Amino acid sequence: MENVIIIGGGPAGISAALYTARGNLNPLLINNGIGALAKAEKIENYYGLEQPISGEELYERGLAQAKALGVRVIDAQVLGISGFDTFSVQTTAGTYDTVSVILATGGKRTAPSIPGIREFEGKGVSYCAVCDAFFYRNREVAVLGNSDFALHEAEELRNVTPSVTIYTNGREPEFSKAHPIAVNTMKIQAIEGEDTVSGLRMETDVSASEDGSETGSFYPADGVFVALGTAGSTEIARQMGAELTDKGNIRVTPEMETTIPGLFAAGDCTGGLLQVSKAVYEGSMAGISAGKYIRQRRAKA
Ligand SMILES: Cc1cc2nc3c(=O)[nH]c(=O)nc-3n(C[C@H](O)[C@H](O)[C@H](O)COP(=O)(O)OP(=O)(O)OC[C@H]3O[C@@H](n4cnc5c(N)ncnc54)[C@H](O)[C@@H]3O)c2cc1C
Repeated sequence: MENVIIIGGGPAGISAALYTARGNLNPLLINNGIGALAKAEKIENYYGLEQPISGEELYERGLAQAKALGVRVIDAQVLGISGFDTFSVQTTAGTYDTVSVILATGGKRTAPSIPGIREFEGKGVSYCAVCDAFFYRNREVAVLGNSDFALHEAEELRNVTPSVTIYTNGREPEFSKAHPIAVNTMKIQAIEGEDTVSGLRMETDVSASEDGSETGSFYPADGVFVALGTAGSTEIARQMGAELTDKGNIRVTPEMETTIPGLFAAGDCTGGLLQVSKAVYEGSMAGISAGKYIRQRRAKA
């Protein structure tokens, strides 16, 4: 059983790793490559940078700093977390048990611009299989996505219904294991329905119809689960039942505690100022708070 698992190797995750490592907690950091820093061409507004450096260099330096301090780093994608008193972190590299978790996976993912997604949110469109699967017992469901995260959500849904199809929306499937779930790779034109979702309309090759008005084929579905790319902090927090703010960020106390004991969050995933300085502060605070939490549990045991 780990003391603390930190998810994310950006400024927030690395700062949490530095504080927990120096607090003798032997943290495990799980990271899936560079995050927002990949897009930051030049950083010149962070403390101590006489000359600007690229986001990529800052990321590499952070990771090297944590490793130099003895932090164990696993390159893997976190797919989901379960548990209440202690946590089980499911990743593409296996499952890890831990007393506490610090979520530092960066900003919110943007929803795809497929017509119907926003309109049917809460009316058949869901972002969390574990939260909403129950409502779709023995019904027809669709999962949007093409990666292991989508497969993880589809497997969750297969526990309640045999009728699950993964729709990749024109992308190549990137699943790291064989599975029996149906996959449709056509491009989606819209999610359709009246009061609630009734299915997915596929794009068609307009040149195939003489007047260009032919509509694509329709695939019925009572529920559509969005699981694009990798699971972000908000998806993971939602799966676990942690509260989000009105803006969809993770709700935290000034100590970086979420509404679930033992689960902390830091960095872009908590909203507010989306800058390295704030991610570093919050990661540090989350590391300190996780340390307090672990020590208090030990004292009670
Ligand atoms: C174009 C651009 C320019 C910017 N310029 C500046 C600037 O000049 N100055 C400044 O201060 N800030 C700048 N920023 C903002 C800054 O990059 C972010 O605020 C900061 O990186 C947030 O840190 P973070 O640790 O919260 O998230 P991130 O840096 O996004 O790190 C998240 C980490 O989580 C990992 N992760 C995500 N999902 C999973 C998963 N499921 N499993 C495992 N790991 C996962 C990712 O691989 C990544 O390592 C810029 C951002 C952008 C986009």
